[in-house]
Amino acid sequence: MSSPSVVVIGAGIAGLCTAVYARRCGYQVEVVEQHDSPGGLATSWRRADYTFETCLHWFTGARPKGALNAQWREVFDIERLRFAYPEEFARVETEHGERLCIYSNVDRLEAELLHQAPEDAAEIRHLIATIRRLSNFPMPDPSEPRPRRGLELLRVARYMPLLRWWSGLSIRDYGERFHNKLLRSFFGSGEGAQPGSEKNPRVKGQPRHFWPVRLMSAPTAAE
Ligand SMILES: Cc1cc2nc3c(=O)[nH]c(=O)nc-3n(C[C@H](O)[C@H](O)[C@H](O)COP(=O)(O)OP(=O)(O)OC[C@H]3O[C@@H](n4cnc5c(N)ncnc54)[C@H](O)[C@@H]3O)c2cc1C
Repeated sequence: MSSPSVVVIGAGIAGLCTAVYARRCGYQVEVVEQHDSPGGLATSWRRADYTFETCLHWFTGARPKGALNAQWREVFDIERLRFAYPEEFARVETEHGERLCIYSNVDRLEAELLHQAPEDAAEIRHLIATIRRLSNFPMPDPSEPRPRRGLELLRVARYMPLLRWWSGLSIRDYGERFHNKLLRSFFGSGEGAQPGSEKNPRVKGQPRHFWPVRLMSAPTAAE
C-alpha cells in the first residue's frame, strides 16, 4: 500500500516545517510555492558583494542549548548558518547629519542614548534597567516535560508585573515619552520593535532608519 500524501501550500517557515514533520510521519509530501524561491517572508538576496537581508534580524533559538534551539535542530541543519552579532544593531540618521546608533551592548547603548538625549535621562534609565532585568528572562521551553515546565512558569511569574506594564504600551505611544526627536523617531515609528514595519511612506525631513548589517546568513558557496 502506498503511503498517504499531503500537499503543503506555501514554502515559508511554517510550510517547510510542516513538510519536514509530515515526511517523518511517513507521508509523501508535495510543497507548492507561488514564488520562484522558498522562504516566504524570511528571505534574502544577493547583489554584487551585498546580501540584502530583509527579514530575520533576530533569531530566537540561535544559542546552542538555549530555548527553541533543539526545535530548530529538528527541522534544519542549523550548523550551516553563520550568525553575526553586530555591536551596532540599527542607526537613525537625519538629513542634517544627526545620527543615533542603537547598540546591542547595553552599556554602550546607555552611554549613546544619554549622550544624545540628556533631557530624556529618566526614561532612558528606565529602559536600560528593564533591558538589564529582562536579559535574564528564562524563556519557557515548550519541549520541557510537565514537572519542569511548572518550575519554569514559577520562574517566569516574577517577571509578570514588569511584562504586564510594558505589554500595555504600544511602541508608538512609547516613542512619545521621549523629548529627543531621534529617540522619538526610533521608537515612535514602530521600527524600534520591528524593522520594516513602518506603515507611513517616508516624508521629507523624516529621519531614515538603517539596519546596516545582516545578522544572519546562510554561507555562500565561496565561504
Ligand atoms: C520585515 C520583517 C522582519 C521580520 N523579522 C523577524 C525576526 O527578526 N525574527 C523572527 O523570528 N521573525 C521575524 N519576522 C517574522 C517572520 O519572518 C515570519 O513570522 C515568518 O517568516 C512567517 O512564516 P510563514 O511560513 O508563517 O509565512 P510566510 O513566510 O508568509 O510564508 C507563506 C508562503 O506561502 C506562499 N503562498 C501563499 N499563498 C500561496 C498560494 N496560494 N499558493 C502557493 N504559495 C502560496 C507565499 O509565497 C510564502 O512563500 C519578520 C517579518 C518581516 C516581514
